[in-house]
Amino acid sequence: MEIQYTAIPVERLEAMREEGKDEFGNKWQLRVAEGWEPLRCCLRKASQDEDIALICYSPWDSASPWMEAGPVFVHYEACAGYSATDQYPASHLRSKAILNPFDHTGARAYDHITFLGNEDDHEAALKDVLSQPEVAFVHVRSQEAGCFHFLATSRDGSAGR
Ligand SMILES: [Zn+2]
Repeated sequence: MEIQYTAIPVERLEAMREEGKDEFGNKWQLRVAEGWEPLRCCLRKASQDEDIALICYSPWDSASPWMEAGPVFVHYEACAGYSATDQYPASHLRSKAILNPFDHTGARAYDHITFLGNEDDHEAALKDVLSQPEVAFVHVRSQEAGCFHFLATSRDGSAGR
């Protein structure tokens, strides 16, 4: 199975920058990176002194009772986004993560929630969850902070088969 890894869509970020606020009304505010902040626009860690912003983000793009929103770091100015969409983001491989799966109706697939430690094979675990017939997509989150990392879907549309 080929997995598609999706960061925050560039268009949504661009609209927020133009508005000067995130989708929840928080001001788009410049912040100087200390160098540890995980950036969800391009799925890498910030370098020290980079211009970033802390925003509230929800990976859902339409109303859903399952919708979760929370704080994520992004670049203050537009960046290139995450282009290696067929590769597990390297900066997230050695992290404590939760694989938070959803079914084809958009509801959480509780039976397949998976907790990963630093040493686990994240990609294999993600493939395993995405290959479950009832799983349509997975939100990968931080286990420590709970915040959203990225969206994972099956590239060949084989999820559910
Ligand atoms: Zn970025």
